[in-house]
Amino acid sequence: MITNTHHQISTQSAPNLAPVANILPANTPMPLACDACDHEQSYSMHHLRSLPELVCHHCGDQRQFSVFELTTLESALNTMGYYLSKSA
Ligand SMILES: [Zn+2]
Repeated sequence: MITNTHHQISTQSAPNLAPVANILPANTPMPLACDACDHEQSYSMHHLRSLPELVCHHCGDQRQFSVFELTTLESALNTMGYYLSKSA
């Protein structure tokens, strides 16, 4: 049983600004919830960049991942201080 709950993340300076940009590799898994049943599946950013058709493993719902969603996802990550590696 691990009882040490000390967190390594420092929030001492500018909590609303990430002091260092964190570069995420292109194979970082991104959890996306299914529109139909909210089942979450993870896709790598590399895969999402190809704008794939996403098929839910739970209910079989299919949808096209759009440029708009990709842009939204990347800008949300940038807001949190994460930048995606452009290369795989
Ligand atoms: Zn589903």
